[in-house]
Amino acid sequence: MTVLLDIQDHDTRIDQLRHRRASLPERAALTEHESALVGIETERRKLEERLAELRRSQKRLEDDVATIEAKVAAENLRMYSGTVTSPRELQAMQEEIDALGRRRGDLEDEVLQLMELAEPVEAELAALAARTDSHVTAAEELRAAIAAAEAVLDGQLDEVLQERAPLAADLPEGLLATYEKLRGRLGGVAVARLEGGQCLGCHLSLPATEVEAVRRAGPDEVVIHEECGRILVR
Ligand SMILES: [Zn+2]
Repeated sequence: MTVLLDIQDHDTRIDQLRHRRASLPERAALTEHESALVGIETERRKLEERLAELRRSQKRLEDDVATIEAKVAAENLRMYSGTVTSPRELQAMQEEIDALGRRRGDLEDEVLQLMELAEPVEAELAALAARTDSHVTAAEELRAAIAAAEAVLDGQLDEVLQERAPLAADLPEGLLATYEKLRGRLGGVAVARLEGGQCLGCHLSLPATEVEAVRRAGPDEVVIHEECGRILVR
């Protein structure tokens, strides 16, 4: 039965290595960086939308300014072409040109306002880009650290598994199946040593009569500790 205890030791070690592999602290840190990046992306999209909206408005205003400029140019050309001679008509044209100039000035002020509104949005986007970079770098470093730690643990796991294989091969199939079933039910520990009348699996002391029964059992006989359900090994 001591071989069963040996298998149990190996399996405990395997469980510990797998647990360490699954719960590497770098994984939690990586998750934090990844969720930070998701948050940044949401923020970035909102800001990009806002900026695109401002740019569209700016473009519309600039198109209006261009239209007005074309009108003023055409009016000027007509005014100085000499074809219009009536002072009243010339006066009206000048007034029209002045009005267009005022309108153009208003539109240009609006363009400037939009550019001012865009500035902080652009600054925020730049800040987000810097934050993205730092999270991406940190995540890359963590992924490399995780891969390195996994490689070490996988090497150790392989070693323990290779040691375990011949031990398990020696065991009767039925006993191995019982052992595996018990392990599943008892939190991974199916075999316990009996020492000084105490089950080291559950740390309960056995009555003297039971200790005696265990002692008398044949070497291949499986004795179960009734209290905790583990296979007792002397
Ligand atoms: Zn026990």
